[in-house]
Amino acid sequence: MLVIRNAAQVVCVAADRSPRKCGADLRNIQVHAQASVILRGERIDWIGPTAALPPLPAYAQILDATGKTVLPGFVDSHTHLVFAGARADEFEQRLNGATYQEIAARGGGINASVQRVRQAAVEELTALARPRLQRLLAFGVTTVEVKSGYGLSLADEIKSLQVIAALNREGPWELVPTFLGAHAVPPEYRDDRAGYLRLLVEEMLPAVAEGQLAEFCDVFCETGVFSLDESRTLLAAAAKLGFKLKLHADELTPLGGAELAAQLQATSADHLLCITERGIDALAAIGTVATLLPGTAFFLGMHYAPARKLIERGVAVALASDCNPGTCPTENLPLVGAMACTQMKMLPAEVVSALTINAAAALGRAERIGSLEPGKQADLTIFDVPDFRHLFYHFGVNHVWRVIKRGRVVHAA
Ligand SMILES: [Zn+2]
Repeated sequence: MLVIRNAAQVVCVAADRSPRKCGADLRNIQVHAQASVILRGERIDWIGPTAALPPLPAYAQILDATGKTVLPGFVDSHTHLVFAGARADEFEQRLNGATYQEIAARGGGINASVQRVRQAAVEELTALARPRLQRLLAFGVTTVEVKSGYGLSLADEIKSLQVIAALNREGPWELVPTFLGAHAVPPEYRDDRAGYLRLLVEEMLPAVAEGQLAEFCDVFCETGVFSLDESRTLLAAAAKLGFKLKLHADELTPLGGAELAAQLQATSADHLLCITERGIDALAAIGTVATLLPGTAFFLGMHYAPARKLIERGVAVALASDCNPGTCPTENLPLVGAMACTQMKMLPAEVVSALTINAAAALGRAERIGSLEPGKQADLTIFDVPDFRHLFYHFGVNHVWRVIKRGRVVHAA
């Protein structure tokens, strides 16, 4: 038994009805002052005022959280952290005026990472990804979605997914694997797009399903990458094989990815900088989670997704890091939350929901994680701040004091 005693705030974030928070409900996060939490095994057992704590057995382990704030462990529902090599050169080229598309056209961008991943062995990729997960954990992230997508051949995609499986077994984090073979058309298929789509549908998807190597299938649905029709063909085939669906949608151009996500009942549609009015209505109607990635807009110097409009129209909004070597090389998820506040005008309470219960919903896990409720999995982070708003107000620094995964302290600052 682990008891978190006398926190200044315990932020529960429980949803009233559905396991996600839509629209105005996003800011209802249930803050309890001077509260304590009892964990039993891997579960949350009790939450209440410190004054009402039941008598504790002598064997109970006590964490004195006086002056601190307890939140559900953060969920990072969109990362690409299995990669080799950095792309700081492209960063500089972009600052000199080159666009993302121009850099990609001269062999940089995703295909630069593809070359490096193809050359790396499983062990090397695992050793490179591990410290990224350790940094995420140190920022209070207890569950992480990780995509493949820098292999783009049957063997190299399987290799990337094996890295994710190995790191998931290792823990203490919990990883959710996503197959993103449709991240780009690899150079050897540049003149045979249909051939690559066939490879994805007829060989890669069945092999990934057979090996139970991914829970989600994702696609970079974008002008010049995968068209709406190509994305639909791939995702429909994935759904038939039992994959849940995600889309990189309407990031650089208003292609209609959000509408396609809703049509296919995808679990989430991600990025959405250029989402249209119809796209917003479609997501709200179906309940597909809109995962916003303001760190990427920040790093690319672009405009931000219309978070306020999405919230006002009743869409369930989540936030994630998009941790990747090209367009958002950071593991600082609370900083992404601060960007959501200052750049997209989200309130601190809305950001908390977007990083917890709604991010869990974006991974189909909101029934088990993402909020503090008796019976749920004991994933919590304790921050050395007296009020949850400080996490985004005092920005860019790490306020984590302890991270707890499945009832066990797995990180101490
Ligand atoms: Zn992405």
